[in-house]
Amino acid sequence: MGSKNKVRKEILMGNQALGRGLVENGVAVMTAYPGTPSSEILPSVVQYGAEMQSQPYCEWSVNEKVAVEVALSAAYTGQRSAVAMKMVGLNVALDPVMSSAYIGVIGGMILISADDPGPHSSQTEQDSRLLAHFAKLPVLDPDSPAMARDLVGPAFALSERFQIPVMIRPTLRVCHGRQNLNLRTPKELERVPGFPRDPFRWAAIPKMRLALHHALNAKLAKIQDYLSKSKSLNQWHAPLRPRAPLGILASGVSAALARDLLAEMGLPVGEGKVPFLQTAAPYPLPIGPVSELIAGCRNVLVLEETEPVLELLAPNRDKLWGRGSGHVPSAGELTPEVLGGVLERALGEAKLKAARPKGKVLSVPDQPPMRRPNLCPGCSHRAVFYSLRRALPTGVYPSDIGCYTLGMNQGAVDTCHDMGAAVTFASALSRGLNQADKDTPVVATIGDSTFFHSGITGLVNAVYNGHRFVLVILDNETTSMTGMQPTPESGLTADGHPGNAVDIKKLVEGCGVRWITELDPYQMGDLQKTLKKAWRWCKGPEGSVAVIIARHACAAQRPRDAVASPCKVEVKGQAAPVKTSFRPQDNPCADCGRCVAVCPAGALTRTGKGKIKVDEAKCTGCRLCAEVCPTGTMVLEPAGACVACGLCSTWFACPALAKDAEGYISIDRGWCVDCGLCAEVCAHGAIAPLEESK
Ligand code: SF4
Ligand code: SF4
Repeated sequence: MGSKNKVRKEILMGNQALGRGLVENGVAVMTAYPGTPSSEILPSVVQYGAEMQSQPYCEWSVNEKVAVEVALSAAYTGQRSAVAMKMVGLNVALDPVMSSAYIGVIGGMILISADDPGPHSSQTEQDSRLLAHFAKLPVLDPDSPAMARDLVGPAFALSERFQIPVMIRPTLRVCHGRQNLNLRTPKELERVPGFPRDPFRWAAIPKMRLALHHALNAKLAKIQDYLSKSKSLNQWHAPLRPRAPLGILASGVSAALARDLLAEMGLPVGEGKVPFLQTAAPYPLPIGPVSELIAGCRNVLVLEETEPVLELLAPNRDKLWGRGSGHVPSAGELTPEVLGGVLERALGEAKLKAARPKGKVLSVPDQPPMRRPNLCPGCSHRAVFYSLRRALPTGVYPSDIGCYTLGMNQGAVDTCHDMGAAVTFASALSRGLNQADKDTPVVATIGDSTFFHSGITGLVNAVYNGHRFVLVILDNETTSMTGMQPTPESGLTADGHPGNAVDIKKLVEGCGVRWITELDPYQMGDLQKTLKKAWRWCKGPEGSVAVIIARHACAAQRPRDAVASPCKVEVKGQAAPVKTSFRPQDNPCADCGRCVAVCPAGALTRTGKGKIKVDEAKCTGCRLCAEVCPTGTMVLEPAGACVACGLCSTWFACPALAKDAEGYISIDRGWCVDCGLCAEVCAHGAIAPLEESK
C-alpha cells in the first residue's frame, strides 16, 4: 500500500470524509448499494484509493444484502472491508447482518448505514442504531464530517479487537455537511488474504448458534467496558458539578447543534453550568460515564436522533427528559429550530437562566418556498406515465422506489412501498381485482436498477404463479435518483472499468416471460398501442405477465442522447375554452363508458343506457373524450390555440410548461430541453414546433 501523497487540507463532504477515512485506514474491499444520503461514500473510496495508490476492490452490488455478504466474506479472509447503504437498505441486508454478530470477522469490517431524519428522501424515518442493538453490533454515531472520518480508525480497531463488525451511523447532516479536514496518509497494512477453515464457526449449525449467542453476550459485556473507558468516544464538554439541576446526554448531530445553541443562548458548554456528556458509542452504552452523569444531576436532557436509544438503554430513566417525558418530539428531524425550543423548555424547567433573552436565539433565515418534486424536463419516464394514462385510463398502477415515483404527479402511480414491490404488488392487485372485475388493467412500473435490486425475484414469483399484469421496465441505463451510478446493464464497474454487461431482455426471458417487447418511450403513439396490446394478451386465455422495456437515456445524465432530434416548441396563442358536447342525435352513443373513464376533470356522468351528462362547469375542453369516443358522439373541435384545458400541465406535468393565472400555457425556456414531447400531448394543436426547428 503506497503512502507517497502529500498531506494536505481539503473541504470534504461527510460522505467523502468517510471514504477518505476508509482508505486512510487500509480498507481492502468496499461494497455499497446507492441510496441518499449514503451514495457518495463508495465513489470517494474509488477516488482516494486511486489517488493514494491503495486500490481497494470496490463494487456497486445489486442490493444491500449482497453488498453485506461480499464485504463480510472479505473480512473472513483477514482483510479490512466496509459496506455502505442508506437505512432502508439495512432492512434488506438484515438477514446477513444478524448472523454477522454471531459469526464475527477476522479483518475489521465497518457497516455504514446512513440515516435520514426528516425524512427528506426516504420511505421511513428509522434509526439504524436500533437495528444495531437488535443485531447486537456495536455502533458509533458521528456528529460531523470530521468526526465521521476520525471514527473509522477506532471502528476498525474495535472490530478487529473483538472480531465483530462495527456499524457507523451518520445522519443526513453529517453525510452532506462539509468541513475542512487535514488529510492523512494511509496506513501500511501488509495482509495476505487467507481463509482459516473452521466449519464450526463459519457454517455453524443451529445448535452451535446457541453457544455463539452466549459468546456474543460475553463479548458485548467486554465491549461495553472497553467503550466506557474510552475518553475519545465519551467527551465531557462541560464537567459534572455537584447537584447540577440539569445535565445533557447527547450523541450525533444533536450533540453538535446543542453545543452551538447553548453558546448562542449565552451558556457556552465549556463553562460547566450544564454538565454535558457526548457519547459517540450509543450501543453498547458506555455505562460508566453515563451513570455518573445521571447520578450527579437532578434531571438529564437526552438529545439524539431519531429514536430514544440512549434514553432506553440508560439507567435511572425516571430522571431523564427526552421522548418518554415529552420534552423531545417523537418524530421528525431535530433541526436548530426544534432543538432550540427543546433546550429553552428544559432550561426553563430546571430554573437555569440563559444569559441572553429568549427570541435572540436562532436567527434562522426564512426557508425558501417549497417546490414540488418533479421529473426533469425531457425525462422519458414522463412519456411513459402520460402514455399509460392515455392507453389504459381505468388501470391501477403499482410503482417503485426511484425517480419514477414522481409519476404520481401525473396520476400514474398508485402504490410505492419498498424496493421491488411494484412487481409483487401488481401480482396480488391483478389477482384480486380481476376476480371482481375482469377489466381493470394492472400496469406496474419499475426502473432498471430497482429491477436488478429486487424486482427480478418478484417477476420470477409472478411468472411461476401465473399472475397477469403488464410490467414496464423504465430503463434509462443508470441509477438516476441517487446520482447516476452504473447498473449491471451498463457493464461499467464502480471504478469505471468495463465489467460484463447483463442484458435485461435476456434476463426477463430467462425468468420465463413469454410476451416481451422493447421500445423507445419517446414514440408515445407506439407505446400506447403496445400497452393496449400487452394488456389484451395478459387477460387472454394464454396470458400471464407481459413485459415492456421502455428504453431511453436519462435526461439528466445524457441530455444530448436523451433529446435525439431537438425540437423547439411554441404555444400558438390563446383561445376561449371550448366545451365538449354530447350529441347522440348525430351519432348514437355506444355506451362503452370510455369518455367517462378518460375525463381527467370528472366532468362526465352516465345517466342511463347511452346517456352521458356533461358538467359544463367542470369540463376544461381537453378533448380527451372526443378522442376516445368510437362513434363520434362526444364532439369538440381542436382550437388551434391554447384553451387553458390544463391537460399538458397535469397529465404531462413538464416543469417547463408555465401556467398563468388563467391556466394558459407558455414555454419556460430556462427549463425546456427541446424534447418536443409536449407537442404530441396538446389535443388542440396549440403546442407546435417553432418554424426554425421544423
Ligand atoms: S394542452 Fe396545454 S397548451 Fe394545449 S390547450 Fe390545453 S392547456 Fe393549452
Ligand atoms: S416544454 Fe415541451 S419541449 Fe420543452 S422540455 Fe417540456 S415537453 Fe420538452
